[in-house]
Amino acid sequence: MAIESINPATGEVVKTFEPHTAEEVNEKIAAADKAFQGWRNVSFEERAGHMHRQADILDKEAAHYGRIISLEMGKPLKEAVAEVKKCALACRYYAVHAADFMQDEEIETKASRSLIAFEPLGVVLAVMPWNFPFWQAYRFLAPALMAGNVGLLKHASNVPQCALAIEEIVRKAGFPDNVFQTLLIASEEVNAVIAHPLVQAVTLTGSEGAGSKVGGQAGREIKKTVLELGGSDAFIVLEDADLDKAAEVGVKSRMVNTGQSCIAAKRFIVVESVADAFLEKMKVRMARLKTGDPLTDDCDYGPLARKDLAVDLEKQVQQSVAQGAEVVLDGGRDGNDSAYFKPMILKDVKPGMPAYEEELFGPVAAVMVVKDEAEAIKVANDSRYGLGGAVWTQDKDRGLRVARQVETGAMFVNELVHSSPEMPFGGIKKSGYGRELSYLGIREFVNQKSIWVA
Ligand code: NAP
Repeated sequence: MAIESINPATGEVVKTFEPHTAEEVNEKIAAADKAFQGWRNVSFEERAGHMHRQADILDKEAAHYGRIISLEMGKPLKEAVAEVKKCALACRYYAVHAADFMQDEEIETKASRSLIAFEPLGVVLAVMPWNFPFWQAYRFLAPALMAGNVGLLKHASNVPQCALAIEEIVRKAGFPDNVFQTLLIASEEVNAVIAHPLVQAVTLTGSEGAGSKVGGQAGREIKKTVLELGGSDAFIVLEDADLDKAAEVGVKSRMVNTGQSCIAAKRFIVVESVADAFLEKMKVRMARLKTGDPLTDDCDYGPLARKDLAVDLEKQVQQSVAQGAEVVLDGGRDGNDSAYFKPMILKDVKPGMPAYEEELFGPVAAVMVVKDEAEAIKVANDSRYGLGGAVWTQDKDRGLRVARQVETGAMFVNELVHSSPEMPFGGIKKSGYGRELSYLGIREFVNQKSIWVA
């Protein structure tokens, strides 16, 4: 079946692509392995030169690539341009630091010399999602290539133009042929790629279901995986929080990328003494956001990336309301046939409701009112996910104490949950395992080799 690029703002099919055949995929894997044999011996300095050039291209052509992103998955152009520029940051970060991160680590033992060497593994498959179609790919690409690995990208089926654009940027930056290639394949073809003897490891960013399937197949093949999966981040508001700031950042965090972010604030857990005041502030801010054509400057949120995603979100909301959730801000689908979904706030969200148990991957805030800090932590931890979270309090020590007790891969005190190249990113529980970014990220797909000299 052809892979279609559909503009979710209009429903128009913009381009179609013929998927690669099994034979073409095998050729690409073989070419990747051949490229690895040379690339693994290229100096860090030379790799960094390519990476810096890549960063320059991303910065210079951010408007062009941002437009491709917006047209293909619907995010407002200003957010898409910022995403492309963030990729440049990651490229520069690893260009500057990779040599240090991959430096031998001398260890004291009874040997005359003993050390840990970090060596690339070879061909790594990256299965990536559409929500940050550039950033997710670059979060893998920049450290992987700097470590001396080579990459194969199987991108989400609704962003083939982004996938090909990334391949083009790598080429334009002067990297050797085939160190990074896009595979235009359906998810059903992924197992065969994982099973290929020349493919050494897999990273997947996406849903829990996809993570389980890909992780299962890699496990059978005894191949290393990193899984970056869904999240249902808690946004805890304590009674001593700056409510205006919390409401402002809370709305931003829920609405980033039209609510389609793994680390968006999804469960607002608010202490009862400030719940009404906080909710009112949040409602006012959420209600005034503007939608429209994602390419225009005053568009705060666009359509969801596909119509079926809006339909699924609507079902989660309807079921939660049927089970007793109260609609504080009404929105949702316009009864039309589009992918647009207006922001909503649901209150009295309780265990058993989809809004409590599942990830809401769109602009719907689920609010739970709790009596105190202890109950807030308990509710925050009552989730199958463990990706990120935030706590709001004017007492920083208290914030840190709460942050340590919430079971997630990252916690932010009085700040929007976000990723940055210096800090590791990843989850626990059903949000996955392994880390991207920082020095930990580059060491996921390397052989951490012990060398002992008697
Ligand atoms: P998705 O449906 O799981 O797809 C992600 C990728 O996996 C796509 O390339 C998809 O290909 C592929 N895929 C799906 N099922 C597969 C299977 N059975 N075998 C092999 N590959 C398979 O997720 P999405 O809808 O694109 O993204 C949204 C999800 O990603 C959310 O849950 C979000 O929280 C999560 N996410 C997590 C992070 C993180 O860092 N933790 C970051 C961003 C997003 P096709 O498109 O061809 O199906």
